[in-house]
Amino acid sequence: MVRAVVGANWGDEGKGKITDMLGQESDIIVRFQGGANAGHTIVNDYGKFALHTLPSGVFYGHTTSIIGNGVALNIPVLCKEIQGIVDRDVPKPKILISDRAQMVMSYHILFDKLEEERLGGKSFGSTKSGIAPFYSDKYAKIGFQVSELFRDEASLRDKIDGVLAQKNVILEHLYHAPALKTDDIYKELMEYKELVEPYVCDVSAYLWEALKEGKNILLEGQLGTMKDPDHGIYPMVTSSSTLAAYGAIGAGIPPYEIKQIIAVCKAYSSAVGAGAFVSEIFGEEADELRRRGGDGGEFGATTGRPRRMGWFDCVASKYGCRLQGATDVAFTVLDVLGYLDEIPVCVGYDIDGQITTEFPTTHLLEKAKPVYETLPGWKCDIRGIRRYEELPENCRRYIEFIEKQIGFPITMISNGPSRDDIIRRTV
Ligand code: GDP
Repeated sequence: MVRAVVGANWGDEGKGKITDMLGQESDIIVRFQGGANAGHTIVNDYGKFALHTLPSGVFYGHTTSIIGNGVALNIPVLCKEIQGIVDRDVPKPKILISDRAQMVMSYHILFDKLEEERLGGKSFGSTKSGIAPFYSDKYAKIGFQVSELFRDEASLRDKIDGVLAQKNVILEHLYHAPALKTDDIYKELMEYKELVEPYVCDVSAYLWEALKEGKNILLEGQLGTMKDPDHGIYPMVTSSSTLAAYGAIGAGIPPYEIKQIIAVCKAYSSAVGAGAFVSEIFGEEADELRRRGGDGGEFGATTGRPRRMGWFDCVASKYGCRLQGATDVAFTVLDVLGYLDEIPVCVGYDIDGQITTEFPTTHLLEKAKPVYETLPGWKCDIRGIRRYEELPENCRRYIEFIEKQIGFPITMISNGPSRDDIIRRTV
């Protein structure tokens, strides 16, 4: 059976923790989209880790971790991450990389930086990991698949020549930067070949067999619905689909195999990068939530930059869960809110005087003002609680209020960063 863990908001909802927790019951964990531009933070018996490319299952001896074809594969980052966990006494994980995954090249990162610089104040707030140039090349059909590392030298060089003919015009004339050389790119690819060779696999065939054997497969998404290029806050989105449906494509499995979709929602909002963020808060109120948020503050796992903060947004989350096709909602980081006397919740958007609970397209979203309802806080620490009935009444009211607003069942409540900080609930 296949399950997916995906984000219903802007990312950073705590998917890594939920995946790590569900990893216990999984044989295979697959990353199916995105690249090293976002990170998962995981706390377990080995310590605290920030993973960018590795699936969150790498800490279990019994799981196979897979990088699917949909991922933007940065080979040096991946290898550094593998070494980083092995150096901290985690047993070497079993990793497979799809032969159809494409590679992030050094020039993708270069183009990302140059373009953000060129855009100046109008930039997308990219992490400059090369993700947008990578996916642009993939769909322009000038990317490099892992399988191509095993082509003969002449044909590979010929392809590089063709790619560079286009890249160099842009480099020289748009960015006024030095041209790239075929020899350097060929050398880069050969370095990648050496690093990646032990892991290369026909992943869709492997997963097909695994499904026939009844294995449990977990698909791990990156970012969240609001960052999806089709359904998110375009153009302030990422460059690959963040939706569970894409899990079938980015892993290479039949769509009908995905039986459970766990949409992860954080008990308050945070976002990175530019773009409309209706329930955003500022000043001391935001600083305090940021400081107390997550596990050690709401700062990017990849960049360390402060995240934008906001109250829970029912409009965005209802939409986020719907587009994910949520069968379950995991409601995370609830423990953080224990300091508040009262908690505003965004229940609608006011757009030109009209109130709506349907998430609008970007040009209308930019005009939306939050409509809040305020709920009483519970003013205590809820960490360590394992049974739903033991949560303070106002805390349960908060959960049930939000569940009603979003219309999807909250079956898991996360009240701390570790694997065991979870309350299961039957709805
Ligand atoms: P992801 O990208 O969706 O996996 O999210 P991040 O790793 O960026 O952010 C989640 C942060 O919150 C991490 O530092 C987690 O350790 C932490 N975290 C996850 N669940 C909880 C929770 O229930 N309570 C607290 N306090 N922290 C949590």
